[in-house]
Amino acid sequence: MTTTRRVALLRRPTGPATPDHFVVEDVELDPLQPGEVRVGVEYISVDAATRTMLRGEGFHMQVGIGETILAGGVGRVVESAADEWKVGDPVVGGLGAQTISTVPGAFLNRVDDTLGPLSLHLGVLGGSTGVTAWIGIREVAKPQPGDSFVVSAAAGAVGSVAGQIAKRDGARVIGIAGGPDKVRYLLDTLGFDEAIDYKHDDVGARLGELCPDGVNGFFDNVGGPILDAVLDNIALHGKVTICGAISQYDDMDDITGPSMYLRLAERQAVMEGFAFFHFPDRMQPAMEELAGWVADGSIALGETVLDGIDRYPEALQVMFEGGNTGKLLVRAS
Ligand code: NAP
Repeated sequence: MTTTRRVALLRRPTGPATPDHFVVEDVELDPLQPGEVRVGVEYISVDAATRTMLRGEGFHMQVGIGETILAGGVGRVVESAADEWKVGDPVVGGLGAQTISTVPGAFLNRVDDTLGPLSLHLGVLGGSTGVTAWIGIREVAKPQPGDSFVVSAAAGAVGSVAGQIAKRDGARVIGIAGGPDKVRYLLDTLGFDEAIDYKHDDVGARLGELCPDGVNGFFDNVGGPILDAVLDNIALHGKVTICGAISQYDDMDDITGPSMYLRLAERQAVMEGFAFFHFPDRMQPAMEELAGWVADGSIALGETVLDGIDRYPEALQVMFEGGNTGKLLVRAS
């Protein structure tokens, strides 16, 4: 094994990220250095935040022209020059969009491969997916029993898990997603109480019908007009939790902020953002509880898998066009 096949940034998108912004190429691997590990990547996580890393100026992190796209991944050690790792060990970490990743051993975390497929550790048990949802619900949104609780991008990775945790905590959960198939998925597979198809329904009017006393909690992944529609329906003492704003990531130089924010003043409501990496001490408890629900089969998260590293360049386009239900992954090898 002398090469990795990787996806690099060819040019920076100024609108949607499409396949022509990337190049897929074979790169010779340098000899392994002491402390380094080579991982055969099985699955690459596709995350909405990757789009923000393709800008010249990073939001969290940035990818340079010609550099491998930053991405979380799972796989198995195929070669090790680090004492703590041996060939075959299952790992998760920042492996990048490539088939073979060479990283310092200290950058990797061991995963339990008896729980199910390794992809679980990017999905329900993944830091930027299930753990984010758990932290957002349990540490920030804190829905109360009986609350009318709304989740946007509800059929996506974070939204699917967030809605299910809010439901476990006793809330009446209303999901917002695009299209009738996703509405059925929310109701029939995830067990949400209500679902709104934002592509065909008037979101504000539907919220008015479904929540006559207002929306007590909103877990927002989308921003833009959906955030405004919920703000317009926020209840007295309601809370908006900003997890993300995917509708804004294609043009971060011209973000459309909420125009209905004065409802916060009128209704004594609050809005709070969060990022999962600000809660390092909550990651382990989150993973343990999520792993328990995986083991007893009481949590569901679908997967949409693009097969082969050569399909990574279309992944963000798929996500931003709503082509994924549940966690979007690329199977690298
Ligand atoms: P995801 O929900 O699996 O996929 C994104 C979904 O967003 C798409 O499937 C699509 O579903 C919807 N969408 C795309 N463009 C939209 C638009 N213009 N208007 C409305 N909906 C749109 O993605 P994810 O990786 O789980 O990320 C979800 C959110 O969580 C993102 O905002 C991300 O930045 C955020 N996040 C935050 C943290 C944190 O620590 N705060 C960590 C990880 C992720 P439809 O078919 O329903 O349109």
